[in-house]
Amino acid sequence: MSGGGTARETEERVFRAHLLGERFLFRAPDGAQPPVAAPFDGIAWEALRQEVLTCTRCELHRTRTQAVFGSGTPHSKFMVIGEAPGFHEDQQGEAFVGQAGQLLTKILEAIGLGRDQVFITNILKSRPPGNADPEPHQVAACEPYLERQIELIGPAVILTLGRHAARTLLRTDGAMAALRGRVFEYRKVPVVATYHPAALLRNPSLKRPTWEDVQLARKVYDERMSEVGSDPEVDPE
Ligand code: URA
Repeated sequence: MSGGGTARETEERVFRAHLLGERFLFRAPDGAQPPVAAPFDGIAWEALRQEVLTCTRCELHRTRTQAVFGSGTPHSKFMVIGEAPGFHEDQQGEAFVGQAGQLLTKILEAIGLGRDQVFITNILKSRPPGNADPEPHQVAACEPYLERQIELIGPAVILTLGRHAARTLLRTDGAMAALRGRVFEYRKVPVVATYHPAALLRNPSLKRPTWEDVQLARKVYDERMSEVGSDPEVDPE
């Protein structure tokens, strides 16, 4: 692991590199910065997984087939956060495995990342019947799980997909068009918000801005990783 300057210097570097024009860093409610270089705590991760799989904090546990904790590699440092499991995710217990998930796989491949080189999860861990929008009380019940996942992963960057994920993490009700293309922060982790792959399937004109956003996320990731050393999931020796 190479040393990499103080957290403040890192922030300033991310800020300078991505401020371009109207870009800015939004400061979400403060919290401890998960250290990117910290060793992965597999025992705590498994305990959390079990908690999520048996969760009854909101009414969605009654209608789900199974909770979806997330997919990919938790000790990778590139984290992707969507909205909620859909039909296929609920059936299979994996995140983003339906049509939108297949597009997400292609999007990640376009920036050199396989699904096993990232960790993909959702704001809600249980499927809302009929794929309804997440309700505020459901988000509030589920968010501690996401917070703990972020704490244990210590991601170098978070890519949010769609307005629900962006609005939850960034504590804003802004439109996606206003949120994308910038670097925000959630608990001192850089966050790039982009469109949901399902929106791209409906509206192909969103592909270009999404491409720009994922490239931005990859750039932030590379910068942060160059400060702490390589990610073994992305840069195998
Ligand atoms: N849409 C999401 O937001 N998440 C999934 O896991 C699948 C579809």
